[in-house]
Amino acid sequence: MAAGGGEGQAAEPEAAVEPEVAAMEEPRSFKDLGVTDVLCEACDQLGWKMPTKIQIEAIPVALQGRDVIGLAETGSGKTGAFALPILQALLETPQRLFALVLTPTRELAFQISEQFEALGSSIGVHSAVIVGGIDTMSQSLALAKKPHVIIATPGRLVDHLENTKGFNLRALKFLVMDEADRILNMDFETEVDKILKVIPRDRKTLLFSATMTKKVQKLQRAALKNPVKCAVSSKYQTVEKLQQYYIFIPSKFKDSYLVYILNELAGNSFMIFCSTCNNTQRTALLLRNLGFTAIPLHGQMSQNKRLGSLNKFKAKARSILLATDVASRGLDIPHVDVVINFDIPTHSKDYIHRVGRTARAGRSGKSITFVTQYDVELFQRIEHLIGKKLPAFPMQEEEVMMLTERVAEAQRIARMELREQGEKKRSRNDNDDDTEEAIGVRNKVAGGKKKKRKAF
Ligand code: AMP
Repeated sequence: MAAGGGEGQAAEPEAAVEPEVAAMEEPRSFKDLGVTDVLCEACDQLGWKMPTKIQIEAIPVALQGRDVIGLAETGSGKTGAFALPILQALLETPQRLFALVLTPTRELAFQISEQFEALGSSIGVHSAVIVGGIDTMSQSLALAKKPHVIIATPGRLVDHLENTKGFNLRALKFLVMDEADRILNMDFETEVDKILKVIPRDRKTLLFSATMTKKVQKLQRAALKNPVKCAVSSKYQTVEKLQQYYIFIPSKFKDSYLVYILNELAGNSFMIFCSTCNNTQRTALLLRNLGFTAIPLHGQMSQNKRLGSLNKFKAKARSILLATDVASRGLDIPHVDVVINFDIPTHSKDYIHRVGRTARAGRSGKSITFVTQYDVELFQRIEHLIGKKLPAFPMQEEEVMMLTERVAEAQRIARMELREQGEKKRSRNDNDDDTEEAIGVRNKVAGGKKKKRKAF
């Protein structure tokens, strides 16, 4: 169960938190929300014709200088909801090291930085991404240039605050915590506390989260001043245009069912969630052996490989991305058509985040959750959380069974490849490997340092 025991519970409004801002009747323009012309133009250039619901609620409040707790589902335009007020404040009082955005994952940090750059390019905004897995020296140089906005994962930021000469955040004006409940679940609490100690108390704090645990409320007390809660949906909901299905199957035929579904829905782009790095890697190998263009993304890959995988998938050079929950939150991959929960999520809230990878920004999408004989209870918890019973995905069992022989052969080869990769890795004492290259030959430096890395 998630830290704080908040799993599955809707947040109780805090006494200090003002009631939700009433939802506006009509969609408005960014200009109506008080966004300045140059930023309205930037939105226009990104193709953002109208503000999204969370933007309608959060932007005016943030522009008034209030602290915000934004509760919004994934793909709701959360980044714009905090980036626009920050950029506008920056225009009014230009200053270096103006805003800090904390995010739980490295990929999310890069994605947020892209939106800051896109919205802020015409006003000359510089941002720096400070995340683990990347050379500290180049980050120190980037920090020495004093960017306007820093987007960081907490651990690496603390590292720089403690070790990079001349770097401090004493003049900071804005702090954003994105996916805040995850920051807590991932044991970032100590780092976050350290960061809060070295930034000014007199600042604006914007806290965004799709789900809210009691623990986040603890954090609100520590960091927010008289915040306004802007909720697009206060219940745990999944987006309206998402068709959600399950399949109930024997565990030993999971691979065959996966192949069947990939064939049935051929032509779509897929994100397949697995529970462990090892199973992600194995399944990627299996699918590649069967001729699918599949690519893995998990915490045992180097940061460069992770970004490489993500970019290949984003550029549609690969149609199947297999991932652990490292990719379940916040990543903006607009063309995901189908999310497959190959391994059912253990925390039901992760279900919401995973299926939030599809049906984003008004598009439609499908999700299919694999439920084996071992997963029934977890699945019931998910149905309880989302408040509905899901339909079964229609399948022809006989056609699945016709696949088993080919799949078994591909499984055998995948197991062999996985073993070979493991052996190579051990002999190189280097854990920066992944499926893409591991299948081919790899000429690499021996004796690389073994890094301690949080893998999930
Ligand atoms: P986010 O929830 O911040 O990850 O945003 C999800 C996607 O919606 C991103 O691709 C944004 O570029 C896009 N987006 C954000 N705001 C708008 C808007 N007002 N109109 C259209 N698309 C938007």
